[in-house]
Amino acid sequence: MTASLERGLNAFREVMDAPIASFFNSCVHCGLCADACLFHTETGDPKYTPIHKLEPLRKLWKREYTLLGKLTSLLGLGATISDEELEEWSPLVYDSCTLCGRCTLMCPVGNDITYMIRKMREGMAASGHAPAGLIDATRRSIELGSPMGIKPKTFMARVHEQQEETGIEIPVDKAGADYMAIMSSMEIMGYPEYLGSLARIFKQAGISWTVSSEAFEATNSGIQIGVSDLAREIVMRIVTVSEKLGVKYVISPECGHAFTALRWDGPNLIGRPYKFEVVHILELLDQLLKDGRLKTEGKTAESLTLHDPCQIVRRGGIVAEPRNLINMVASDFREMEDAGVYNWCCGGGGGVSAITRAEELRFTVFKIKKRQIENTGAGTMITACANCRNVLEEGLEHYNMDTKMIGITELVAEYLKKDEP
Ligand code: SF4
Ligand code: SF4
Repeated sequence: MTASLERGLNAFREVMDAPIASFFNSCVHCGLCADACLFHTETGDPKYTPIHKLEPLRKLWKREYTLLGKLTSLLGLGATISDEELEEWSPLVYDSCTLCGRCTLMCPVGNDITYMIRKMREGMAASGHAPAGLIDATRRSIELGSPMGIKPKTFMARVHEQQEETGIEIPVDKAGADYMAIMSSMEIMGYPEYLGSLARIFKQAGISWTVSSEAFEATNSGIQIGVSDLAREIVMRIVTVSEKLGVKYVISPECGHAFTALRWDGPNLIGRPYKFEVVHILELLDQLLKDGRLKTEGKTAESLTLHDPCQIVRRGGIVAEPRNLINMVASDFREMEDAGVYNWCCGGGGGVSAITRAEELRFTVFKIKKRQIENTGAGTMITACANCRNVLEEGLEHYNMDTKMIGITELVAEYLKKDEP
C-alpha cells in the first residue's frame, strides 16, 4: 500500500462517525437519490447515483465497522480499496457533486448524502486524488489569501472604484462599526457593483459598517476540497479581524458556500462560538425592509425569474427573504418549476466551477436549468450567489440564450428611493 493511500484510508477512518455508519446501514437502495441529482437526470448514467459516489467509503465501513465485514476480512476475503479505485472515483466525488443537498432532501430514510460526500472528500484529498483546479485554488487561498489570487491592493482598487462610481465613502478597517462586509473572489473580480450597491443601501438605511483590507475574502476552498485544517485557517482569518474590529455582525455576501462555511461550519471548525453574528445579506436586506429602513420606488416591468442558490435556500433556509425583496421592485416575477428548496443546482457549486476537466459535464447538466428558464419565459434571471451567477452566465452563453442576469442586492439598489438621504 502506498503512503498516500494509507493517508487517505486513515482519513476515511477519521471521518467515519455515527451518522455516516447509520446512513450506510439505513440505505434501502430505493434509488430515489438518483432522480434528485442533476448529474444523473441529465446524463442518464447510473454511475452518478449519489449513494454510488460513496462506494469506496461504504466498502471501508462494511469491511471495518460491520461484523460480517470484519469476519470476511479476517478470512482474507471482502473488498479492498486501491489507489486506482480512488482515482476512478475522483470525478464522482468532485466533478459531479456540487454539494447541492437535493439528494439529502429526497432520501426517504433521511440519509445526509451531501454530508457523507463532504467527509469522503477528506480522504480523497489526503490520498492525493483531489482535482488540480481545486488544489491550485486552495494553494492560492493559503498563500495569497484568495482562491483567485486577489491581493489586498486589488481589493482596495475595487473599493476605490466603487467609491468613485457611487460618490459614497466605503469605510475600511473601521473599529467599532456594527457590520463588517466580506465578498467572494467572484464578486470582487466579476461583480464589484455589489459593493457599490451595499454602499448605497447602507447610506439610505443609516448602517454603521466597514470592510477589512485584510479579511475581505469569503470563499472557503478548504471546505470545497475537503481539508478541515485549511478550512479552519480560512475561517480564522475572518474571525480574528472581526473580533479585533469589534463588529457585531459579519455580512455573508451573495455567495452560497461562503455562507455555509462561515455561518454553519465555522464555529465547529474553530471549536468555539464567534463573538459576532453572521447574517446573510438577504436576511439583512429583508430585515431593513421590515423595519422600514429600506425604501424603494418604482418597479421593473421586465419579466424576472429567480435561481435559488442551493446553499442559501435549500441548505440555508433563506427562502422567503429573496422573494420579499424581488416583489418589492418587480411587477412580473415568475417562479421556476421546483422553485425554493426543491430548485435545481446551477451545476457549478461545491468547487465544480474550479475544475477544468468538469466543464463539458457542467454544460450537459445545465440543460435542466435551461429548461427551467425557458419554461418561465422570463427575460432576466436573478440570483444571490456570484458563483451561481458566473456558472449560469457561462451556461447561457454556451446555449446561445439571451436571458440577462442580475444579483438581488444590485436589483434592489437600482430602485432605491432617490430623495432618501
Ligand atoms: S449533493 Fe447534489 S450534486 Fe451532489 S450527489 Fe447530491 S444531488 Fe447530486
Ligand atoms: S435515496 Fe436514500 S435510501 Fe434510497 S438509495 Fe439513495 S441513499 Fe439509499
